[in-house]
Amino acid sequence: GYLNDKGVTYDYFESLAFQQMLKEKGIVQFLSLLKIFGKFQLHEHQFEHLSDPNLKQVQTKMQLFWGDEFEGHVIKLYDDQKLALLNPNTSGLFQSLGEEQQKKLPFVILPEFGAWMIELTPNKPYQCMCFNFDQVLINMRKRIQTLQSYLPQGNQYLLIPVYPMMGVGRFTTTVESDLTASMIEKIRSQTSYIEGTPTLQQDEKQFQNEKLIQPATPYKELPVEPICNYFSQSIYFDDRIINPHPRYSTLAQNIRLRRGSKVEIKIPLYIDQNTNVEQSEYEPNPGFITMDHMGFGMGNCALQTTYLSIDIDHARLLYDQLAVLAPLFAALTAGSPIYKGKLSNWDTKWDCLEMSVDCRSEYERNPKNPNYIPKSRYSSISYFISNDKMNLEEYNDLNFPANEEIMQFAKQKAKEMEIPLDDKLLRHLGILFLRDNMVMFKDKIHIDDNTAHFEAIQSSNWNSVRFKPPPSYNSKIGWRVEFRTMEIQLTAEENAAWSIMILMIVRLFFTNLIPVNFYMPLSLVDENMRRSKEKGAILNQKFFFRTNFQEYGPAVIEELSLKEIFFGKQDGSFIGIIGLIYQNRNIVSKQQCAQKEEYIYQKNKKLQDEVIEFVKSKVYGNTKTLATWMRDFVISHPNYNKDSIVTHEINYDLIKTLTSIKDRQKEDPHFPLIFSM
Ligand code: ADP
Ligand code: MG
Ligand code: MG
Ligand code: MG
Ligand code: MG
Repeated sequence: GYLNDKGVTYDYFESLAFQQMLKEKGIVQFLSLLKIFGKFQLHEHQFEHLSDPNLKQVQTKMQLFWGDEFEGHVIKLYDDQKLALLNPNTSGLFQSLGEEQQKKLPFVILPEFGAWMIELTPNKPYQCMCFNFDQVLINMRKRIQTLQSYLPQGNQYLLIPVYPMMGVGRFTTTVESDLTASMIEKIRSQTSYIEGTPTLQQDEKQFQNEKLIQPATPYKELPVEPICNYFSQSIYFDDRIINPHPRYSTLAQNIRLRRGSKVEIKIPLYIDQNTNVEQSEYEPNPGFITMDHMGFGMGNCALQTTYLSIDIDHARLLYDQLAVLAPLFAALTAGSPIYKGKLSNWDTKWDCLEMSVDCRSEYERNPKNPNYIPKSRYSSISYFISNDKMNLEEYNDLNFPANEEIMQFAKQKAKEMEIPLDDKLLRHLGILFLRDNMVMFKDKIHIDDNTAHFEAIQSSNWNSVRFKPPPSYNSKIGWRVEFRTMEIQLTAEENAAWSIMILMIVRLFFTNLIPVNFYMPLSLVDENMRRSKEKGAILNQKFFFRTNFQEYGPAVIEELSLKEIFFGKQDGSFIGIIGLIYQNRNIVSKQQCAQKEEYIYQKNKKLQDEVIEFVKSKVYGNTKTLATWMRDFVISHPNYNKDSIVTHEINYDLIKTLTSIKDRQKEDPHFPLIFSM
């Protein structure tokens, strides 16, 4: 259920007494998964009817399950006042929908950090990599249309990464009273007995506190209400629009408590002719857009995809390989040029999320200190984990710190439990468990509830890729890898196209008919990540990439444009990723599809070609990224004063126009239909 799983959580200081115990339990849970599923393989018996052993082998490897997840904002448009505001009352919407009705849908509705956000996944993973690439397109269209049809008049389910006006004066519709009431109830239950934190009486005072948020700059004047910021202490963002499930406000509070101060998000401001770069209470860092709430990051939307692997070794290889591609796909899907009502110099939201949940203390953030931690718990990965011979020592060049104490414990336990735990997997655990558990439910800490204690650490390490073990001891699901850096796109067609693009690459690692090796030093992968957020990176930046990507030995690395990485070099010395896909397809497709109808094969091939055409139009600059499109929209808006500021009125026109494009009432060449089906 959506709201049922209530519970009472510890604040960070209380949780300190249990961190070590719960981390040890988490490790034991992971080791138990390793014991049960370490040798797990996709079942070959499904293909016993095939007589050709080669075909049988290929078919087995092709039995991929995969799925996507995307998030969107519920935005209410007020046409008479020219306002487009977040509607943080989605829990009410889905209570009215009921559980029975939700069960009948071909998709799953999931809560997210913001009470105005909705995440949707297919209710069953898609099957098979060979045929029916179109499942994702059909399912995505259905999800978006059905959800839209449930929303009350005037509301839009909009797929854009960042809502541009977050934190600007009043940026939400009224918060319904039941939500407010549940927040107060939560504060009561959380604070009454904690030493050193505010008493109940003080909490109530906080609610009455007439602390107003004033517009920071000459934004359009909006009605402003007192702010409730008990969890975050934000000066812009009201905690009552955090999802009412205790997990989310607890995360916000405990990240702040562990850090020792409010989170600080600083994004470089795009400086125009009339931009004001003076310091003020609301812009303490001149030349930057400053934000101070987890919601400025975790209130943004992404597109993620998850792939089942053949076995654990295969998952570990896929994890490494996809990690190299993660920065490239961030740049390709860039859609986040505006934060807190201002144009920024960045096009993607990844760094904003890193900063929004950065729980490292001041000490841990200082490179001079011995216990320095170089990255936030939301970050690109820092360690390759495969034991494949392609993974050379030199690629793991970050020398990233790990929780040595927990590694010692894991090593000892694995020995006791007689489970082989190799050094790479051990270090992976050590890196994950460097982070503290941020959400402990009081009634759950002493219960050994399947894999919950492992998942508490795992699911709050928000990395570019995630290595997912089977979700529980009795699971029928194997080892999976999640790809996490894509920005959500406006239309079902674009989201399907990018998902299929990755799928085509993932498929290279299932068939193994041609050699593919994307390994390169992680320091260069991180440099690519830094470059991926720059304005217009898709056309303006070069990225480090391995050009001998069909060889096993050390990497030959060049700086290439995305156009070259995908479509190859002019002189023919490098065929690009699309070249690999053609090569693979020529060998494998006819063979795999032998027992299927010819027309399905042809349909599938056409669909893939349409995706490749779409990717080509992006990397050649023939269609804009969502980021560039939004930037250009603001800059050419008649009310834009060349001062970097996006007013509520410009925002309304922007959201209104995007709405007509996604509904296909307005045609725009930068949001093509892509598919002929
Ligand atoms: P999370 O938020 O933890 O990443 P979600 O439940 O939102 O997880 O998404 C999980 C994704 O994994 C969904 O797209 C789902 O369809 C997909 N999935 C479910 N079962 C499998 C499976 N056996 N193999 C691969 N993918 C799966
Ligand atoms: Mg999800
Ligand atoms: Mg999500
Ligand atoms: Mg996910
Ligand atoms: Mg999730």
